[in-house]
Amino acid sequence: MQGFADYHMHTPLCHHAEGHPRAYVEVAAERGLTEIGFSCHSPMMAEFDDWRMSIEDFPRYLELVEEARAHGETLGVTVRLGLEVDYLPGHDPWIGELTKMASWDYLIGSVHYLTTELVVDHPEHLSQMEKDYRPEQVWELYWELYERAIRTRLFDFMAHPDLPKKFGSVPGGDLSNYYAGSLIALHETGTAFEINTAGLRKPIGELYPAMGFLSLARQAGIPLVIGSDAHAPEEVGEGFDRAIAAAKDAGYSQLARFKQRERTLTDC
Ligand code: ZN
Ligand code: FE
Ligand code: FE
Ligand code: ZN
Repeated sequence: MQGFADYHMHTPLCHHAEGHPRAYVEVAAERGLTEIGFSCHSPMMAEFDDWRMSIEDFPRYLELVEEARAHGETLGVTVRLGLEVDYLPGHDPWIGELTKMASWDYLIGSVHYLTTELVVDHPEHLSQMEKDYRPEQVWELYWELYERAIRTRLFDFMAHPDLPKKFGSVPGGDLSNYYAGSLIALHETGTAFEINTAGLRKPIGELYPAMGFLSLARQAGIPLVIGSDAHAPEEVGEGFDRAIAAAKDAGYSQLARFKQRERTLTDC
């Protein structure tokens, strides 16, 4: 993974990741990554759940990334400042506030919440979700929200496109109808998306997104980023060989980089 950038990783402030950001930088350097970006789970406008940084911890987040940035300078790793932001309908004003709270290099848009009660990738919500919804309904709901998130134009790139497959739930048949609205929205808003390698470590054992999405995105000229979604230092850069191979198979020859919310493309 010589020379690549990993733009999706967390910090202990979200209560389900471990290791000082400096340790993530060290693994990045060992694995030949030249750029990484932190993108921990954003605070919500009110106390919401227990798997994100609180607004009180927000200044500490900026400090931690700054500590990592300084360490990266000594190791030849550029460190960017990002945030993984949960999209929920009606949260746009709060997300707008977040965009002003730091000098971000990028904001990632994520859909984890199908409803305010139901988190699509949370193991403890799985049995409830399976009881209340068929896989087709989960997918419809999810992709509708994903498209809405993109259309807010609040995000530089979108996270883990087909996340609802995490525990193996995928509708049968052609999936491109689920993807279509989001692909058009990405194209129309000039938003990028990521290949997220965390799916390889999950029950589904695949990259997010599936090859079908990736190929259609390439045909539509949508810019691409790769992220490990590391929640521990040793996960930095994990699965990048697989992700890069998939990107090339889909026809990608460039990946996006972000600095101060400006996008550039580099050859891959
Ligand atoms: Zn997380
Ligand atoms: Fe996520
Ligand atoms: Fe994440
Ligand atoms: Zn994530």
